[in-house]
Amino acid sequence: MKTVLITGANKSIGFESARILAKNGYFVYLGARDAAKGKEAAAKLHAEGLTNVEPIQIDVTDKASIKAAQKSLAEKQASLDVLINNAGILGSWEQSAQDVDVNIIREVFDTNYFGVINVTQAFLPLLKKSDAPVIVNVTSGLGSLTLHSDPNSKFYPVKTAAYGPSKTALNAFTVVLAYELRDTNFKVNAIDPGYTATDFNNNQGPFKVEDSAAFVVKYAMLGTDGPTGKFFSHDVPENNNECPW
Ligand code: NAP
Repeated sequence: MKTVLITGANKSIGFESARILAKNGYFVYLGARDAAKGKEAAAKLHAEGLTNVEPIQIDVTDKASIKAAQKSLAEKQASLDVLINNAGILGSWEQSAQDVDVNIIREVFDTNYFGVINVTQAFLPLLKKSDAPVIVNVTSGLGSLTLHSDPNSKFYPVKTAAYGPSKTALNAFTVVLAYELRDTNFKVNAIDPGYTATDFNNNQGPFKVEDSAAFVVKYAMLGTDGPTGKFFSHDVPENNNECPW
């Protein structure tokens, strides 16, 4: 049975991704920073007959929590096949470049960028033991500098001085990691679930959480012939969803 760890999986896109992967026969480690919420979310899936789900406490901004999660998973599994770095925050407003408080930027980068790096580095040794390891970095179209420079893009007017740049940085990290692992079986991609109705945006987005999770999962289930070092967006229907950086 393939194994997957999903951060921020107690609700929304992460939770639905857990449900889809469990239905597809993966053993899912359902990551949650709040252990009680993780337990509750896993119980919901167990009640649906998805017993191949186990909650795991992991706060991506807390190195001790990441280390403990890594240790507990390593005691149970010889390898990890898939890591979905899904946990993310929008950060508080205002996010105007002219007067945003740098503490807001730091807070957002702690979760969306440094958190992903710390989690990825902690789990890389276990991922390297898989025959076909996959890393999905959940990003956003708001991280695309190309779309932000195009006045015709729908992303153009949606400028955020903390959130967007945190995902741009995450994309850059994805490119570097994929390059370093290019001669291996690793598939490392940046995946944008698209503008999706979740707590993240007060349920504003047009996409349903189930469809966006299915989009993310498609790249979590890539085989060894799949793409790597790419950016795919649910919001960009052209060109096989490939999004410009
Ligand atoms: P959400 O409803 O706000 O859920 C976010 C999840 O991340 C929650 O489980 C949350 O836990 C968790 N989380 C936050 N900080 C964490 C931390 N420090 N450690 C561990 N978990 C943490 O958001 P979503 O819409 O599902 O978004 C999931 C991902 O998709 C994010 O990376 C987001 O940037 C990206 N995305 C979303 C949209 C959209 O329109 N929704 C669009 C593009 C990209 P708690 O429940 O404890 O808060």
